[in-house]
Amino acid sequence: MGHLIPLCEFAKRLVLAHNFSITFIVPNDGPLPAGPKSFLDSLIPTGINYILLPPVNFDDLSNDVSIEARFSLTLSRSLPSLRNVLKSLVSSSRVVAFVFDLMATDASDIAAEFNLSPYIFFPSTAMVLSFILYLPKLHESVSCEYRDLLEPVQIPGCTPVHGKDLIDLVQDRKNGTYKWFLQFVKRCHLAEGIMVNSFKELEAGAIKALQEEEPGKPPIYPIGPLVQMGGADNGSDCLRWLDDHPYGSVLFVSFGSLGALSSDQLTELAFGLEMSGHRFIWVVRSPSSTVPVYYFDDQIDPLAFLPEGFLDRIKGIGLVVPFWAPQAQILSHGSTGGFLTHCGWNSTLESIVNGVPLIAWPLYAEQKMNTVILVEDLKVVLKLKVGEHGIIGRTEISQVVKCLMEGEEGNVVRSRMRHLKDAATKVLSKDGESTKSLAELAQKWKNKIMN
Ligand code: UDP
Repeated sequence: MGHLIPLCEFAKRLVLAHNFSITFIVPNDGPLPAGPKSFLDSLIPTGINYILLPPVNFDDLSNDVSIEARFSLTLSRSLPSLRNVLKSLVSSSRVVAFVFDLMATDASDIAAEFNLSPYIFFPSTAMVLSFILYLPKLHESVSCEYRDLLEPVQIPGCTPVHGKDLIDLVQDRKNGTYKWFLQFVKRCHLAEGIMVNSFKELEAGAIKALQEEEPGKPPIYPIGPLVQMGGADNGSDCLRWLDDHPYGSVLFVSFGSLGALSSDQLTELAFGLEMSGHRFIWVVRSPSSTVPVYYFDDQIDPLAFLPEGFLDRIKGIGLVVPFWAPQAQILSHGSTGGFLTHCGWNSTLESIVNGVPLIAWPLYAEQKMNTVILVEDLKVVLKLKVGEHGIIGRTEISQVVKCLMEGEEGNVVRSRMRHLKDAATKVLSKDGESTKSLAELAQKWKNKIMN
């Protein structure tokens, strides 16, 4: 969902502001889960279609193949059917561009077969994009694991990042996933352009470095923040619950579309929220035993793992929502005054456009790098200290929640967040930088029709 949601927002803007028609081509390994399916179905009235490719088979894969490698294999095994679909699209319409996710750069070969311009949509930060484009050089110059480097890594245009905080995919260089990722990254240079979901006020240095011209480096289009907006969905229990509470008084707690905690950590979080005495909405998932944790089982009732009596004790103060909540709407509701988040980039941007300050709890993927931007560059988050055995204790959680919701430090980060909210509104306005960047791209594609 973290990739699909911003990609769909990008598509909607191309349709509404620039009159393009869009078709999503979706590789898969079986029926789509309910979330992505209903999300794609909801686009149909806007004139955006989707085509599901025939499912690929993974019976030959062992269980330890990473989720990212599975994404990529889904695409590479779908190439023959993708070719068929493109053949038919190209024969029936004027296709001006073929946009794919970073995890699907193998599709650039097929783009070349049909003489289509390949573009990458990058749903994360300019910092991660700068890192990815720099990775082949880093790989040549460093022989140890990046996490063992004594000095932080100097990614072009960015605040230095410790090797241990780089994306998960590069944390084990001996692993096949790293080698696959490196090959993959080298193919980014084949793109005619890369759209990144960010804007200058968030990442001035990284965007400037990305936009410096270099041979073989594709043009970069900062078009963010593209986020799903709150709105409608007035029927949701969460929104009704928020209506009954004072302005800015509720902490929202959620770990993205995939995040789950260990059983011990879940218990500490429950007690920490309770001890803080503050109102909260918590999207709770059943615990996971794998580390890093980015999987949850939606067949197991997560409420069964909460401390005894917890739900009774928090009645009226806390709302616990199993699995999934309408996050964009919750963050845009006036009663929401803080967000304890895993720092996924969509969650971060959704908070920024609503001016909601954060408590950072990064879990997986690129979230530790996002936290570096939020803590060191933008200073819009409070951090939690990790205690013994890698667990964040209840006292720490309770204190940091209090600090965000009622303390002076909380007021400072809240006020910085409001500035960012204004900056986000400005870049998306009629003459804003992101609007112009998208218009430039759209014009480039329209010129193809005219030529
Ligand atoms: N999301 C949601 N409800 C939930 C959990 C997640 O609507 O209960 C949405 C959230 O608003 C965001 C996306 O799922 O748009 C998660 O993306 P993000 O980049 O923050 O994290 P990821 O899931 O990719 O780790």
